[in-house]
Amino acid sequence: MTARCKSCSAPLEANTNRCQYCGVRNDVDLHSKHDYRIENPYSERICPHCAIALQTIDLKIGSPLYIERCNDCFGLFFDPGEIEILLNHTVSGTQTINLKHIQNINKDRYQSKKVKYIQCPVCQVLMNRVSFGYRSGVIIDRCRKHGIWLDNGEITHLMEWKKAGGQLLALQKQQEPQSTKIRVTANARRHRHYPLFGEDREPSLLENLSSLVWKLFE
Ligand SMILES: [Zn+2]
Ligand SMILES: [Zn+2]
Ligand SMILES: [Zn+2]
Repeated sequence: MTARCKSCSAPLEANTNRCQYCGVRNDVDLHSKHDYRIENPYSERICPHCAIALQTIDLKIGSPLYIERCNDCFGLFFDPGEIEILLNHTVSGTQTINLKHIQNINKDRYQSKKVKYIQCPVCQVLMNRVSFGYRSGVIIDRCRKHGIWLDNGEITHLMEWKKAGGQLLALQKQQEPQSTKIRVTANARRHRHYPLFGEDREPSLLENLSSLVWKLFE
């Protein structure tokens, strides 16, 4: 499934939303795929990449689901629990695990993306980087208090992952016996409210400091 540039119709490479032919940035998540309504064009939340106000949008999935969206880089911010609501609404009834498909969607995904910690759109504290589910291939940015940031393309990737049975696989992994059990149980306890997530990777003191210093010179 290849996305196409809305401006020149050229196929977009996996994992990028900037067209290599005409340079236009495309919203590969919401453009023509999901119906949404702009509730507030200038919320108080700030895009961690572009430093501009995020829009509050209603995804219109039956009952209102308000999330934030950057109109520049098309990243999305979800309050705790909202990703699960969206995933359950858009992808349901998956009965089988298609390992091959999971592998394939992840093959496109991995790039040597430089690890960069970004600030929570609400409290501005550096967010943790957490892998979403088992083998989803998506590392999310999470503020424990306020929610989860997804770069453009990541929610679509998670939907494909779930459709391929990724969430079933994650559940299966959680219930796995033997040697992994103790660790899994400990993790499950630690992540009581986020059963889908792996181990947190917290920004180190040095990374916190360097972001602070960076702020001073901005
Ligand atoms: Zn183009
Ligand atoms: Zn942005
Ligand atoms: Zn926060």
